[in-house]
Amino acid sequence: MNWTNDICPISNEPAQEDLSGIEDVVEFICPTCGRFRITGTALAMILHRDPDARVFALAQAKMKAEEGEIPTVDSSML
Ligand SMILES: [Zn+2]
Repeated sequence: MNWTNDICPISNEPAQEDLSGIEDVVEFICPTCGRFRITGTALAMILHRDPDARVFALAQAKMKAEEGEIPTVDSSML
């Protein structure tokens, strides 16, 4: 783990980002959104989405995640 300060791509507020880079996936810990992962492709796309679409993408990731699994936002959710 290699945590750094960044901005949450969902809620646009200060969050912790892990840059360890597991297979093109970035992990965030955000006070509002909790802990989630996002693929590099989805991260590039989400910056062009409005706030509702961002929150909806995270909601889909959370629904898809198994119990105890960290949700991963991918490009199919955007
Ligand atoms: Zn957030």
